[in-house]
Amino acid sequence: MTGASAGPAPGAVETSAALIEALLRTDLRGRSAYGAPQIDVPVKLNTNENSYPVPQVVVDAMVEALTKAVPDLNRYPDREFTALRGALADYLTATSGVTIEADQIWAGNGSNEVLLHVVQAFAGPGRSMLAFNPSYSMYPNYALTTATTWISGFRGVPGGGLYDLAPDMAAAQVRDHDPHVVVIASPNNPTGTAVGLEVIEAVYDAAPRAVVVVDEAYAEFSRTGTRSALMLLAGRPRLVVSRTMSKAFALAGGRLGYLAHLSDQTQAVALAALAHRDDLLSEVEAIKAQRDRIVGEAAAMGLQPVPSDANFVLIGGFPDAAVTWQALLDEGVLVRDVGLPGHLRVTAGTPGETTTFLAALRRHVETGHTRRGTP
Ligand SMILES: *Cc1c(COP(=O)(O)O)cnc(C)c1O
Repeated sequence: MTGASAGPAPGAVETSAALIEALLRTDLRGRSAYGAPQIDVPVKLNTNENSYPVPQVVVDAMVEALTKAVPDLNRYPDREFTALRGALADYLTATSGVTIEADQIWAGNGSNEVLLHVVQAFAGPGRSMLAFNPSYSMYPNYALTTATTWISGFRGVPGGGLYDLAPDMAAAQVRDHDPHVVVIASPNNPTGTAVGLEVIEAVYDAAPRAVVVVDEAYAEFSRTGTRSALMLLAGRPRLVVSRTMSKAFALAGGRLGYLAHLSDQTQAVALAALAHRDDLLSEVEAIKAQRDRIVGEAAAMGLQPVPSDANFVLIGGFPDAAVTWQALLDEGVLVRDVGLPGHLRVTAGTPGETTTFLAALRRHVETGHTRRGTP
């Protein structure tokens, strides 16, 4: 470090990394950044992205929209982003059967930003937030970075699914802890299964001071008959439903989740995306078919896939998940070790990617769950 007054004296032994560490909030020291490994392999199925690139017709529309928006970047963005909120409201109304108005919508740079804003506003120091685990591994990070007390709720219904939530058990946990924010991912990540609306109603009623957020990042992939928590919004002012364009809309790099403070480019790109939603969503049915194929074939191999309403499948039954993860990577297939013993999560990609994954998995299982070429 060079220059003015406040830095360490010349000759100080501290390296800049050690200095930065020493300046950091004590509760953040020693932490590393969030993120799955980004390894360059042919088959990337570890972060639940949409495997299909943005169709050319949509690329063209986005570039045209950007060409019009970029000259105005000298101005602050439209704080109300009325057009985008209207288009998002129309999309939700058309797909959920619930009438949503533009003034009910807020948007941000990805649903992670939106969710963090909720935690910043309604939790924070001296307050608490609860999620039912295993769930999205970013949730405890929102608590950590906002100095919110993190409460790790649990799943598992006696005589039912290991990762299911029943209304009474969910309500009891919420009643015990009386949190300020509850986040329920539905469909849940990494387990894939949607939560019944009766669970959300029970949690809402049991947590009289909580803002209850239902994170529906994977809603578009749900199996037929799965109902969105949008249906519960009427009469529940503390309920929030978050969505994203990162998964079904194939726009993880575009960064649009529904809630606050947008830049003009994001609005232009997202408006173009929404105007072409049929093109962007055209692969959702194909992805769901691959998802169901993974569940079926993994079960036939003697593994334990969890039924999924998302674009990924959590598979259990591995004697050593780390060994399987590496064996698949040896064959160019990257999946996610989410830290659940014996489990791995795989994104449903293209038919070709799924075929490659399933073939590698089958070889691995048939060779007794060892790495090929190892004794
Ligand atoms: C992928 C994912 C998101 C999406 O985050 P963005 O910031 O919108 O890209 C949100 N919630 C869950 C549970 C996810 O798995």
